[in-house]
Amino acid sequence: MNTDPAKRLQLKSGLEKIADLVRAQSWREDGAGLPPTQRALLISLARSPQGLRAGEVAASLGVSAASLSDSVRGVEARGWLQRAPDPADARASRLTLTAEGAALAAKLDGPESGLAQLVATLPDADADALLRAMQLLIREAQARGLLSGLRTCLGCEFFQPFASGDPATPHFCAFVGAPFGDAALRTDCAEQQPQRDADALAAAVLRFRDGAA
Ligand code: SF4
Repeated sequence: MNTDPAKRLQLKSGLEKIADLVRAQSWREDGAGLPPTQRALLISLARSPQGLRAGEVAASLGVSAASLSDSVRGVEARGWLQRAPDPADARASRLTLTAEGAALAAKLDGPESGLAQLVATLPDADADALLRAMQLLIREAQARGLLSGLRTCLGCEFFQPFASGDPATPHFCAFVGAPFGDAALRTDCAEQQPQRDADALAAAVLRFRDGAA
């Protein structure tokens, strides 16, 4: 698999530099000097307007309950977050954003935020290839316990790679019941259901990685 170490080294260096850029950009954009977990907390809550339990947020961000608790307190103290009783469990509470928090999260996660301007310049074919590569990288990071919280197609029980028989739209989403191509791969899909069958997941990863052959 690792047939060209020099090429992998170039990829590694490039990705790490981009990651540095993302961190620096995030710091500049929010205007509030937000620590990364607070920023991620705001964005997670903005994507779940019904609210989330603290445990759900901690699991999705891959941080400890104690670390998340510190972040919740910090965001709450700035008036961006509120707690409401959980309708499903009277002993629990759900976290939701205040109007001010929602406005800040919209800015942090907006279509013009982060690397949007750079990504917008990519030709379609390169954007498709990057979307595909990101599925594999994210899956590998999740398998190694380095990352959680992204609801990717690769890892979703509805995802059937190379199942449609149409080279233009080779994959199939059983949730919407439609074929789709690499251009429509999702890195964070609200409808995703994690594939909990380890054998089915391994088979999907292999099939996605190696194609229909
Ligand atoms: S439900 Fe979402 S994540 Fe799952 S296969 Fe369909 S588009 Fe992808």
